[in-house]
Amino acid sequence: MTRIAPGDVIGILGGGQLGRMIAVEAARLGLDVHVFNDDPRSPAFHVAARATTADFADTEALAEFAKGCAVVTYEFENVPVAAAEAVAAHAPLRPGAKALATAQDRLAEKSFVADLGIAVAPFRAVDDAASLARALDEIGRPAVLKTRRFGYDGKGQAVIREGDDADAAFAAIGGKPAILEGFVPFAAEVSVVAARAADGTLAAYDLCANRHEGGILAQTTVPAAVSPATEAAARDIAARIGEALDYVGVFAVEMFLVREGGEERLVVNEMAPRVHNSGHWTDVGAQTSQFEQHVRAVCGWPLGPTTRRAPRVTMENLVGAEVEAWRDLLADPAARLTLYGKGEARPGRKMGHVTRLSGAGEG
Ligand code: AMP
Repeated sequence: MTRIAPGDVIGILGGGQLGRMIAVEAARLGLDVHVFNDDPRSPAFHVAARATTADFADTEALAEFAKGCAVVTYEFENVPVAAAEAVAAHAPLRPGAKALATAQDRLAEKSFVADLGIAVAPFRAVDDAASLARALDEIGRPAVLKTRRFGYDGKGQAVIREGDDADAAFAAIGGKPAILEGFVPFAAEVSVVAARAADGTLAAYDLCANRHEGGILAQTTVPAAVSPATEAAARDIAARIGEALDYVGVFAVEMFLVREGGEERLVVNEMAPRVHNSGHWTDVGAQTSQFEQHVRAVCGWPLGPTTRRAPRVTMENLVGAEVEAWRDLLADPAARLTLYGKGEARPGRKMGHVTRLSGAGEG
């Protein structure tokens, strides 16, 4: 690994709030930040020393950008693999293109995780009405139909229950290549956020419990109310996935917690090769935030402690008009507000988040 030092340039592909929060922490550690994104109104541009607006298909602009960087990372998983490769030809790209390719395609992702011997929902590839009918026969109902690519926050998904018209569900997701998954009767949704260093060291944060509203993460609570064995199993899953991808940086694994006959088990839903919304609580809730940790990992610097700073930490997303409460939140001494510098508070748009630390019994 080439030695990276404060004063060097870190490049970030993508300019959303995740890139913005990485950029702030990188700058705090003395790095020079260069953000590349295709939208001139990118939240990360406001906090970066340099910004390039160009298309992700513009390999010349990507090469130019990468040549000036000591290391390049990314903040969203839909960076085209060709763009990632164009960058990797000129600068170390961490995490690498393999993690991107795996996470971009739900079929590749589910197969990859299942091949590691980790539990996932039963799944089948769906390309047309005939393969959907076959998959439904094999998996049964209820089932969840998801596009293979470009799904997020519950978009590109349809639940097929008893009596539902399968063809209508396929049409609703645009008739695109998809996977059909068995519906997991989960008691809770949990995630593990972890950093992996180039030497294989893993630093995982405590397991988080996540509540979604309308497909969008609403609240994360740490610790998740699970047994120590489940907590250990989640870390082990993260370690195996990180190792198999030869991963460098922060990533998240989202899982379903199933409770049956007094037993708990985990079923992996998906993996995000980046800092993750369910890790935002670490901004003040852990000794090293996920953003700082990501910078440390991709620069080849020592990872920081992941210790939680309070018995209980919660993170609430401010979605759409919820951000209008910003003044009241600032007046609340228990709340730590972060705003993403986005213009219009459109419905469903993540505008900011609030982190709160409390004693185990409060809040
Ligand atoms: P995803 O885009 O895969 O994260 O799915 C969005 C949300 O849909 C998840 O957070 C779950 O609440 C729900 N969901 C997705 N897949 C399944 C499944 N196989 N069984 C039950 N619920 C699911």
